[in-house]
Amino acid sequence: MEKNAAGKKVFYVDYTWKELDALDRSRVTLVLPTGATEAHGAHLTMACDSKAAEELALRAAKQVENALVLPALWYSPALDIANYTGTISIKPSNFINYVIDIFEALYRHGFHKLVVANVHGGAKTPLDVAIREFHSRMATRDKGYSDDFFLHLHNFYAPVTGYLNTLAEGKDWGHACEMETSLDLYLYPERVYPERYVEDYIPWEKGFEWYIGDMRAVNKSAIHGDPTKASAEKGEKIANAIIAAFVDILRRL
Ligand SMILES: [Zn+2]
Repeated sequence: MEKNAAGKKVFYVDYTWKELDALDRSRVTLVLPTGATEAHGAHLTMACDSKAAEELALRAAKQVENALVLPALWYSPALDIANYTGTISIKPSNFINYVIDIFEALYRHGFHKLVVANVHGGAKTPLDVAIREFHSRMATRDKGYSDDFFLHLHNFYAPVTGYLNTLAEGKDWGHACEMETSLDLYLYPERVYPERYVEDYIPWEKGFEWYIGDMRAVNKSAIHGDPTKASAEKGEKIANAIIAAFVDILRRL
């Protein structure tokens, strides 16, 4: 079982309910990793986002005192990727309500702090809306924006994007690219098929938001980037940068 330096378990579901009941839950920071079940080229598995989200969250949680990592959300909105075979895209409104149910359950049990730790682009906006919707449901005339339950959305790639741009060798990156492939080569090498690498890009105009439409209609590979530039060494640098940025957030809470 995953434990921190003080010997405390860090994976929420490794606890019994009696053990959770005995915790000082007001001092715990919960982490909810969010990923997806979606196509990532022919060289990475459908698990790419979800396994990385959970593993990076666990590695960060082990470096602090009071963080508990919830099981990752494997199903989320993946509208642009939805038509590649196997992708399971959840409607944003369903996902938002599902996430709010998780917040409500945790609040009911006396937890007061939760960070959503997201790697999946398609989940960013729905997660942001879920947090706002939850706060608005909790609001009263005395408290317009409840501070009883602190919620924060942390997108794993956001604080390290500038650094990743300095590592990048391909023309662009963003999906099943040199970054995600490097990360999997480092974390889960058995889940990478290098003989299937293809460099491919979404015909996407820089300066606009990420392409939201049917990506399959304009890109046959489910890749935006150059996986041939991936390496485990690059993956280790990416993982360390993501974990360091997240540990900093956890320590500041
Ligand atoms: Zn991904």
